Formats: sequence, C-alpha cells, structure tokens
Amino acid sequence: MGEEQDSTAERKPERRGIDRRTLLIGGAVAAAGTAVLASDELGRLWWRLPGVVKKRKEGEVDARGAQWIAASDYNWRRADRPDDYGIDMVVIHVVQGGYDTALKVFKDPAHGAAAHYVVRKDGHVAQMIRELDVAFHAGNKSYNERSIGIEHEGFVDKKSSFTDEMYESSARLTAGICKRYDIPVDRKHIIGHVEVPGTDHTDPGPHWDWDRYMKLVRKARTALA
Ligand SMILES: [Zn+2]
Repeated sequence: MGEEQDSTAERKPERRGIDRRTLLIGGAVAAAGTAVLASDELGRLWWRLPGVVKKRKEGEVDARGAQWIAASDYNWRRADRPDDYGIDMVVIHVVQGGYDTALKVFKDPAHGAAAHYVVRKDGHVAQMIRELDVAFHAGNKSYNERSIGIEHEGFVDKKSSFTDEMYESSARLTAGICKRYDIPVDRKHIIGHVEVPGTDHTDPGPHWDWDRYMKLVRKARTALA
C-alpha cells in the first residue's frame, strides 16, 4: 500500500486482525509523506489554472470492466500522462487489509496515498485514479510519475489471500496497461513495491507467485495483440 501505514504493520508481523486494521486506517502520515504531499499539492494547483485543465468524463475508466470508485484527490496529483510523464512500469502491491479497507483509506484525504486500482479476491477491479494522473502509491516521486499502481486485497504473510480469480483478473489488468503504453512484459517493468528504490515496504511479499503471474500477463497480453 501507499506511504506509511502498511509498512508499520509489515514491520510488526506479530500484530494481526483488528490491530493491523487500526494501524492502516488510523496511522498518521509521516513527516516525509507530508513533504511529498506539499510538493504534489503545488503540482495539482498548477494544473487547475484556467485553460490548463484537461477535460475528463466523470466516471470514465481506463480498464474494461473496472468499477469507478473515486479516491480522494488529496491522494493523487493531476497530470496528463503519457504526454507529460511516460508510463513504463506497473507496481504490484498488497493492501495488508481487505478490499473495503483499501477503498475506505483511499477515499480518505488524510491517508496521503492511494493506488490506481484495487483488485478483490473474486477478481473484481475498482479503478480509483485515472491512468492520466499520478497516484501516490510507491513512496517514490519519480516511480509514482512513471508507473501505475495495483493493490490486491489480503496480507503479505497469508498465501491464501491470492486467489486464482485475483491472479487472472490482475494479469488481464496489467496486460491491458502494457498494451496501452507499449510496456514490455518483464520483471524490469512489472515490479513489486518492495523493488522500488528507497522503500521499506515488503509487499507483495514471498507468497506472491511471480512466475505464475508473469505467465498469465504474457498470455493475456498475447490475447490482446
Ligand atoms: Zn505497497
């Protein structure tokens, strides 16, 4: 997940259930997160100048079949990708909580982080931020600018979080992103949050089956060609 909350949970694996959930929802944004938010706030104001704001259709989604559920606009920055920033990466996350929890915190302006997509264990996909825009999900400004973030409900230390339906649906989502922006289907361009430079996050964790996932993405990408 985004900036601070899930890392707190990840560093304390003995904390479970309600404790994790409390941390996720109630955690304050760290000092570093606030600084990032401040600079992103300036970016957003610039885009709101008359004549600069691009027209958007309310409720429009980038991924076919996704349900639009808007994140708080404090958790992302308006942009015009891929024209202002090229998109060459997909970042895979795990929520450290359920689907509803992810939606709730991404709608919360105080959370300071959100991903473009949230995938439920039955394969349902919510899009919360347009791919045009920069979501605060990787904890790294340049990686946020160049990537699309996909959250998966569940916990890094719980293998059963990752269902067949989730892998299939997420792989189709990633394949569509790779097609839209001509991103190579490989592990240089489809990475885990843990692989983002400077992060202390461990998601998607050791139970995320990368071999299986990449095979599914390749298959879905070929089907789209
Ligand atoms: Zn994450």
